[in-house]
Amino acid sequence: MVLRLSTLFLRTLREDPADADVASHRLLVRAGYIRRAAPGIYSWLPLGLRVLGKVETIIREEMAAIGAQEVHFPALLPREPYEASNRWTEYGDNLFRLQDRKGADYLLAPTHEEMFTLLVKDLYSSYKDLPVSLFQIQNKYRDEARPRAGLLRGREFIMKDSYSFDIDDEGLEASYQAHRGAYLRIFERLGLDVVVVSAVSGAMGGSKSEEFLHPTPVGEDTFVRSAGGYAANVEAVTSVPPAPVDFSNAPAAQVVDTPDTPTIETLVADVNARFPKDSGEWTAADTLKNVVLAVTLPTGERQIVVVGVPGDRAVDLKRIEANIGSHLEISGELGVEAATEDDLKKHTGLVKGYIGPGLSLDDAVLGSEAATGLLYLVDPRVVSGTSWITGANAPGKHVIGLVAGRDFTWDGVIEAVEVREGDEAPDGSGPLEAARGIEMGHIFQLGRKYAEALGLKVLDKNGKLATVTMGSYGVGVTRAVAALAESNRDDKGIIWPRSVAPADVHVVATGRGEEIFEAAAALSEELEAAGLEVIYDDRPKVSPGVKFGDAELIGVPTILVVGRGLADGVVEIKDRATGEAENVPVAEAVEYVLRAARA
Ligand code: ATP
Ligand code: MG
Repeated sequence: MVLRLSTLFLRTLREDPADADVASHRLLVRAGYIRRAAPGIYSWLPLGLRVLGKVETIIREEMAAIGAQEVHFPALLPREPYEASNRWTEYGDNLFRLQDRKGADYLLAPTHEEMFTLLVKDLYSSYKDLPVSLFQIQNKYRDEARPRAGLLRGREFIMKDSYSFDIDDEGLEASYQAHRGAYLRIFERLGLDVVVVSAVSGAMGGSKSEEFLHPTPVGEDTFVRSAGGYAANVEAVTSVPPAPVDFSNAPAAQVVDTPDTPTIETLVADVNARFPKDSGEWTAADTLKNVVLAVTLPTGERQIVVVGVPGDRAVDLKRIEANIGSHLEISGELGVEAATEDDLKKHTGLVKGYIGPGLSLDDAVLGSEAATGLLYLVDPRVVSGTSWITGANAPGKHVIGLVAGRDFTWDGVIEAVEVREGDEAPDGSGPLEAARGIEMGHIFQLGRKYAEALGLKVLDKNGKLATVTMGSYGVGVTRAVAALAESNRDDKGIIWPRSVAPADVHVVATGRGEEIFEAAAALSEELEAAGLEVIYDDRPKVSPGVKFGDAELIGVPTILVVGRGLADGVVEIKDRATGEAENVPVAEAVEYVLRAARA
């Protein structure tokens, strides 16, 4: 059916909505794709549903192509499965919780790992049933702290989530790679540029995880990339450690009085003045800064940890948060912040401003938890044989020439400092540069975490019960619509990629003559009969200026204008993206549009 604008349920807006801070949000509302119902919650209008449907179709086709089967779960779920996985609590304030009339707890699902796990547990019992991949396209609910940017970060949004179930690790790897390939094809077909970055899986638990980021200045994720093709989330970047240094001839460490050196700069100035280096100058990079952090465990308990980092680098709490779980042997959400005065007071060995690894130089195993009672982690740049100026754990005293591996040890190595532009990529592919992106998709190797929590076991080849290993894979469907609008637009409106445009061609009838409207209607029918999707602006009393403005705002890739030229037997066909227009004989118009649509 040709969509006629005289009857289509659509009102375009001249004014930007007051609450819209990014272009895609403004344009999707103004062009009549969506309407706000509440913060982060949107209603879909006819044109919006057409775009959404196309995005979903591409996703469905690519999921089917890797053998994944579609199911559909409720969004409203009971508490119990989420209790079993501990996410009823772990999800914190982001979870919408509610009760039925009997007082039983329910939630609006933020994601569905538990339900898929239980469904497979319900129906499958043998390794012969595996592998299987299931998916759904369903609403998700998250009470995001900052719903923003319209559909980019909603509180109700649509996700395609799939889950793979395998008997062994090789199977999981294969399912993961199949999804990875499908995701690349989905984004390619959508016309959405993505970079795949390795990520840290955080609260999800499990091991391997990659994100598909769409580079855009409105993105909330910072990632780094190198000219040679390396890309990673800042949390997941690994530093390139220097080679270990032979310390057999290194001079003994020397404790020196350094009064009035509360900062790294004053310390560096003081040691340069009074204890000059053999060659060159001491710099902040020669100092080892020991930062005291408080980690909030999922139990609510506070654990104090000391992290040693080169003094020229700032600590990055998010990187520490993402990486510290393994050192504490804890999975789940951890909070990391600088320790407070109160925390410091509880540990008398910590002398503020003069904290060094180990409690005194006499300790046999300096730096380790055994010696200090506190977990001591270091940045990867602290390798055996490197020599440092650092606190001597006594007021007003520092130590020069404290050698790692000789004078102090540590409990573990952690990525703890800011990644800088210019740092080397870990794979040797050149210096890193920073960019912003928005997460379009995320694939995880969950492993056995959910299967264990929910008891998903099947009989293996030897007739023994084995826990199934799982992957979880998500694409933001509504977010994809917004990202496409964000990255495909100009000052007049949206410029949809053909694969998701609400129609192939937007026919505009301009002028008053009956014959113009008749010709435009006939052409619209012909275009439709040729297999194209057509919007026809047949509004009788609307000015050409308004019609052109609406066509450009709505953003269909081809605009066909039937107007004055009709007297000479031509219509104007315009490419929305390039702005190029051509007069085409009426008789050739359908063929011309078909060619453009197939290009
Ligand atoms: P983000 O880091 O952006 O909050 P997330 O890591 O919480 O996302 P996942 O749990 O990995 O998201 O969900 C899978 C996909 O769902 C994401 O890659 C993203 O495309 C989409 N998504 C997540 N949260 C939202 C949201 N609030 N609004 C729209 N889409 C979302
Ligand atoms: Mg994610």
